[in-house]
Amino acid sequence: MSSKQESVPPTPLIDPFQRSITYLRVSVTDRCNLRCVYCMPEEGIPFLPRREILTLEELARIVRVAAGMGLRRVRLTGGEPLVRNGIVKLVRWIAETPGIEDVSLTTNGMILASYAHELADAGLRRVNISLDTLDPERFRAVTRHGDLAAVMEGIAAARDAGLSPIKLNVVVMREVNDQEVAEIARTTLEEDWEVRFIELMPFMDEQETCIKDTSLVLGFVPTQEVRKQIEEALGPLEPAESVSGAGPAQYFRLPGAKGLVGFISPLTEQQFCASCNRMRLTAEGRIRPCLLTDQEVDLKETLRRGDSDDDLRQRILEALDSKPDAHHLGDGNRPHRRKMAQIGG
Ligand code: SAM
Repeated sequence: MSSKQESVPPTPLIDPFQRSITYLRVSVTDRCNLRCVYCMPEEGIPFLPRREILTLEELARIVRVAAGMGLRRVRLTGGEPLVRNGIVKLVRWIAETPGIEDVSLTTNGMILASYAHELADAGLRRVNISLDTLDPERFRAVTRHGDLAAVMEGIAAARDAGLSPIKLNVVVMREVNDQEVAEIARTTLEEDWEVRFIELMPFMDEQETCIKDTSLVLGFVPTQEVRKQIEEALGPLEPAESVSGAGPAQYFRLPGAKGLVGFISPLTEQQFCASCNRMRLTAEGRIRPCLLTDQEVDLKETLRRGDSDDDLRQRILEALDSKPDAHHLGDGNRPHRRKMAQIGG
């Protein structure tokens, strides 16, 4: 990490649309132990050579500099963050960074059981676990390699380690898992999970998202339809708040439920972008101000040619300045295909 003198006073991370950016999602690797149909083709993506991926020290330095500018929360993602060597050490460094109040991680849960306690000891607060179906066969089809039992063990271990709240991410796909949404929501009656239904984002071509053996093509399902199915089966959803505070999800509670049902609606919620508080750092060291637009600012070169923290700050501000008001998918904008793992969805 740099020991160069800091001469520029911390600048609050306010973007041109007066949104305060306090949250960074960091893709720590583009590699993954699964091949979810909506995220990666079966053969994987051409993975970045290791030298192109930021080192743990580089990642920690970016977080330290950004924390001095007002960053408060960091989420580690990927790819699969738990396949990155040194992930526990990185969590510890980030958790110990002055200014950082919350470190969390998004995982597919496959190897979470063996990491949950170590991660919690290192300062991780909570985990989001991707779980698109509760049916073992369907789970294997959607993830191509996944073992539902291993993920359920991971969830149990996370709870045991005190990681809370446990959020489950469900990407809803027509004729794949849309018939199951009420069953998945039902789990919140007994479990204090926050189950979040996510609208499918256009990251893959239609043909690529075909599940070969079943010839299913993934289709978009709007939140409104998911909500209707859940309410018809289980009763009215009452507005509620997540204990972890503001984020892109709108939360509700089923009558008498221990957990929450959330909806993340990047495509159908008008206000989705207006409340955006985040930027992303790609595995190869580019700040991406918006997940769904391809604008990026490279930090790796700045880091590797030995520039100062001031220079790094300037590059972060440049990225902030280029954050768009909204993703404009409705106006035909389409993000670069196949990059979700590098970006850190
Ligand atoms: N490997 C980790 C995991 O599975 O959670 C972290 C990376 S994954 C890219 C992060 C999140 O992005 C997951 O919850 C996943 O479901 C979501 N995601 C990936 N592709 C998506 C898409 N096309 N539309 C909506 N969500 C997507």
